[in-house]
Amino acid sequence: MSAEEEQKMGAEAHPDVLKQYGGVYDDPKMQAYVAGIGKRLVGNTETPGAPFRFTVLNSNIVNAFALPGGYVYVSRGLLALADDEAELAGVVGHEIGHVTGRHTAQRYSQSIAANIATGVLGAVVGAVTGVSGVGDIAQLGAAAYIQGYSRENESEADELGIRYMSVSGWNPDGMTTFLGKLRDQARLEAVLAGRSPDEVDETSLFASHPRTLDRVRDAANLAKGADHKGAMGRDQYLAHVEGLLVGDDPDEGVVRGRVFSHAGLGIRYEVPAGFRLINGPKAVMAVHKDGSAIRFDMGAEAHGDMTNYLQTQWAKGTRLSSIEALEINGLAAATGLARLNTNKGAMDARLLAVKNGKSTYRFLYLTPPNLTAAHAQEFKTSGLSLRKLTEAEKTAMKPLRLKIITAKAGDTVEKLAEQMPYEEHKVERFRVLNGLAETETVKPGQKLKMVI
Ligand SMILES: [Zn+2]
Repeated sequence: MSAEEEQKMGAEAHPDVLKQYGGVYDDPKMQAYVAGIGKRLVGNTETPGAPFRFTVLNSNIVNAFALPGGYVYVSRGLLALADDEAELAGVVGHEIGHVTGRHTAQRYSQSIAANIATGVLGAVVGAVTGVSGVGDIAQLGAAAYIQGYSRENESEADELGIRYMSVSGWNPDGMTTFLGKLRDQARLEAVLAGRSPDEVDETSLFASHPRTLDRVRDAANLAKGADHKGAMGRDQYLAHVEGLLVGDDPDEGVVRGRVFSHAGLGIRYEVPAGFRLINGPKAVMAVHKDGSAIRFDMGAEAHGDMTNYLQTQWAKGTRLSSIEALEINGLAAATGLARLNTNKGAMDARLLAVKNGKSTYRFLYLTPPNLTAAHAQEFKTSGLSLRKLTEAEKTAMKPLRLKIITAKAGDTVEKLAEQMPYEEHKVERFRVLNGLAETETVKPGQKLKMVI
């Protein structure tokens, strides 16, 4: 593939990437900061004049990737996880390495194209039949950054990244420390999803690419041979990420524990205990470790009554049973049952469609057949929890932001973590956010990241 063709490929995919990953993060200063680090690195590659374009994505999911033609992306979730410029430069240098090493073009044709075409969370074929999105959840987050290319390509990108960052004046240790953080983040994500953190290293999550630990080790070895005089750039990095949006963007909907609220749509609902909500660009998923899932998205405007909508618009062509009209907190709704064939085998589906003016909300409750009865009552309760937000609730939906604090005498990890606005796993979140090992303590005068 010629450089020109790669350029064209990247330019064509760029708008789809933006759509898929939450759009451009609306903070010109942050965009300029990341682009500045990227350009400094590009200046020290084999092709310093090559066109590169750096974008911070408005996504909370920790991710970084590159497209052919020099399109490099980092998510704001990744920026929140990094602790210094050297770590960010390591990630960006690694992605630049995939471009200069010409890995992106090969990979693009295989997987990214397929991913973008179908969407990651929204990988839904047809109206109801697309349960394929459910299985992809495990592929999101920190894991996605680590896997994807062949081991040779990953090693080469690490090697190139370490070279670029060293020559550009950053300490290559940042490459190693950040890979360690990604692993911790992936473990935390597993815990939040109700799985064992050891899965990250051992089983399904990394099954096809069980090499995180290898990569951390290899990068450490590579970094050993490099020049360590470079800067970590911690203070200036923390100054730049102060105020960074953390978690969901309220304009795109907010997850708080088991409650999903959307200021723009003006609604909220609750999912049953044991389900973990994940807010994606096309759908909100709630997943249970037993394989059950709830998918929420918006359908086309409903014409006629809601049972009619269910049969002739949403589930057209699918056989539904037990169709029933109902009213949920003043909103017209209809529900029905279907048996679906999915890539996970047969699944039972309860469809629930709710009309709110021109908007149609669609809930798809999916269970393996042997668990349908067990979840039936709580799915009903969940559906009935849908209601309009009050004006006060809408105003109260303020976004979470990163705040840089300086630890005082008497501060402990537990004390500081307690102040974060999460319902669970506060200490684990605080430790991962700050790259603190399990037994590490905080020292007076130490700068730390908080979420407020
Ligand atoms: Zn890579």
